[in-house]
Amino acid sequence: MKMMKMMKQPNILKPENKNEYISVFDLKTWMICPRLFFFQNSHREKNKTEWEEKNKYFFQKDPVRFFENEILREILFCLPEMILENAGEQENGTWVDFAGLENKIRQLIEDLREEMKLLESENPDEIKKDEIKADEIKKESGAGNNIFAAIDDACAEIVRKIPILIQNISKTIETYGFDLYEAAANPVKSEHVFYFQKINLAGAPHKVVLWKEKMVPYLLKTSAPPQNGIWEKDRIAAAAYILILEHEFKKENVADSFIMDYAGELRIGRIRPQDKKIVFRTLRQIKEAKNGKMPGEKNILFCPNCRFQENCRPKLVSILSRFWGKGE
Ligand code: SF4
Repeated sequence: MKMMKMMKQPNILKPENKNEYISVFDLKTWMICPRLFFFQNSHREKNKTEWEEKNKYFFQKDPVRFFENEILREILFCLPEMILENAGEQENGTWVDFAGLENKIRQLIEDLREEMKLLESENPDEIKKDEIKADEIKKESGAGNNIFAAIDDACAEIVRKIPILIQNISKTIETYGFDLYEAAANPVKSEHVFYFQKINLAGAPHKVVLWKEKMVPYLLKTSAPPQNGIWEKDRIAAAAYILILEHEFKKENVADSFIMDYAGELRIGRIRPQDKKIVFRTLRQIKEAKNGKMPGEKNILFCPNCRFQENCRPKLVSILSRFWGKGE
């Protein structure tokens, strides 16, 4: 199987002036917390290098979890092709060689372990830098002795999760057969950066696949799905991708549905008419935030893990104290 390049957040701020463009990634951050977007964006503009470094571990002070997500996402990317390689048809129906599939996944984890280490450290000088960086992370999170140990721990964690992955794949095959995997194994585009100039929106869906003769975004998540359907923020992100694809491939060639891969469990989502309106409204709000307007809306559920608490929290506490009559 051809190894895919390790997925990093694509550089989708490429054309002309990056400050003028809004990415679907921005939109997703806004959906987590509008204020988070605001602080992250202002911090990025002031100090790009520091932002890039810290953002890597933002919300995930544990580097093991960070690497686990990165590696698992890459496995999900390759999975449809691997499933088809281990599947077939017999007189009494289709079958999957799950033992063979598991071996392939294990082999892929080993390959990705090495690739991730190479990415983190491209030459001997870099290794020293990594050790220093790892010490800083260790102080902050208490995790692993160094970056490489964090990568090893992440791989071990994924190996432990293989049975869940297999269970999810089996559930998908029971529901949809192999059709969705066949579409995903033969994408029209993978991680291609699309740009819709009129609304100033750029985005790179993990894959664009042909499903029932229409273009459909295929999106990967390493987390679990809701009990039914699709998480709302995933549907809004999908609506943004669909808007971009409609511009690229013409509206009549793009479905109003999308495929979500939640750690091997595939679900088909359908966007509602109001989802595109929410995208437009959010784009306006993001533009204002980029111009310096602090959003009023917050998501206090994320505050305990947020590194911007110092900038944001005093106002938050004063608002809460108004409701509960408590001083700071
Ligand atoms: S402290 Fe809370 S409200 Fe403020 S940016 Fe962070 S997550 Fe959002």
